Amino acid sequence: MSGVGYSGALQQAGFIMGPPRIKGTVVWSSAGLRAARLLVESFASLVAQRHDPEVVEYGFLADGPAYRAVFGGYENVYEVAPESALRRGSLLRPDNLVTTVSRLREAGASGPHVVVGGLLRRFDGRTPPLFRDRHIWPAVQLTHRVADNAAVDTLDFYRTVMEQLLAQMGLPAITVRTPALAEYGRVTYLVVSVLPNGRPTVLATLYILADQLRQSLGDDLQIIDVGFTGKVLAACAMLHSDGRGLMLPSLVAPVQVGVTLGPETEQQRLKNWLGVLTEGGVRPQTRAARGSPGARNQAEQRWHALGAPLVIGLDRTRHGEVISATRAPVTRASLPELPGTAAIRADLADHDARLLYAGQSVMDQGIGKDGYVRAACGTCADKLSVFGTVVPERLVTCEICQARTGSLLFVSEEGRFY
Ligand SMILES: [Zn+2]
Repeated sequence: MSGVGYSGALQQAGFIMGPPRIKGTVVWSSAGLRAARLLVESFASLVAQRHDPEVVEYGFLADGPAYRAVFGGYENVYEVAPESALRRGSLLRPDNLVTTVSRLREAGASGPHVVVGGLLRRFDGRTPPLFRDRHIWPAVQLTHRVADNAAVDTLDFYRTVMEQLLAQMGLPAITVRTPALAEYGRVTYLVVSVLPNGRPTVLATLYILADQLRQSLGDDLQIIDVGFTGKVLAACAMLHSDGRGLMLPSLVAPVQVGVTLGPETEQQRLKNWLGVLTEGGVRPQTRAARGSPGARNQAEQRWHALGAPLVIGLDRTRHGEVISATRAPVTRASLPELPGTAAIRADLADHDARLLYAGQSVMDQGIGKDGYVRAACGTCADKLSVFGTVVPERLVTCEICQARTGSLLFVSEEGRFY
């Protein structure tokens, strides 16, 4: 990781603004807004493998009394002052569930509804950007009403969606079913990834809502609630930065291919090539540089600071020269001609695979070796600080008594973690 840390790397890449900051409130800039949009689009298209999601955004204010009727109070929320003349009793939107369930029911629909926007929660502790914010953005919350007998299967489908999405982000993941949030979830899945120090962190929550909550919402159907936030981008930046900055997965890289041009670069040929790439769904961007090695290195470093997975240099020492540079690690190869869409896609896929492999190594060394995941049978599990069970469940040999009736358990000495 670079000396500037993950938030410095995100600033350098044009994702977020630097100081001065309002506590707990990240101000996003253009590349970050674009990456967030790409992330949400990918989530929606993964959901669309099985369902037909509607992506919506709600207003900034939420109905206070309706929220209180379901959640029982106003802990951690911002309320419009009761004495104010306008919008009294409203909340600065802390959640979407109440609004979504009532809208779906009014429309006689079951969803899934995917709400994308900002949520506001009071929080006075430390607020590292995108890890613990007061204004949580982007907050993505999917709600789906389903019949009793479809609930677990549907929840499992969304688990695979989240695991696939995180894999595309270069983030390894395991899902843990835990009884720790029983007041919210009748069944709770936490999708857990890893920080560079090997500690676990929660990147998505999936619930079949607790019966009491469902009854407060006045719903007869089971309600699936799936949520993740911009923390996914922060975790990606933490795990995948080097001295040059972010190493973005191609999924969310606003610039997938940084193209450095020479003074001699033939404009029409360049235009045709960029046209073909763009048509093929690749995101290239160009920048001119002098032919000297120093200028070329500087150009490459600027692309890397933006997080570009692939850099292609044209006409450096001679007309028609094409040099393709990878990231993580940086390697350079001379190509006989301009690479086509298929070749670029293959390079991007390799890049993504390297990120995920690196992430998986961090997880194996941290969560694997530090005893977070253990194989134990029901009896031996009593001796461990079990936080939950790894899903999908499978029978394994108990590492303590060798019984064949063990499960993979997630053990957490510190209890709940974030
Ligand atoms: Zn045992």
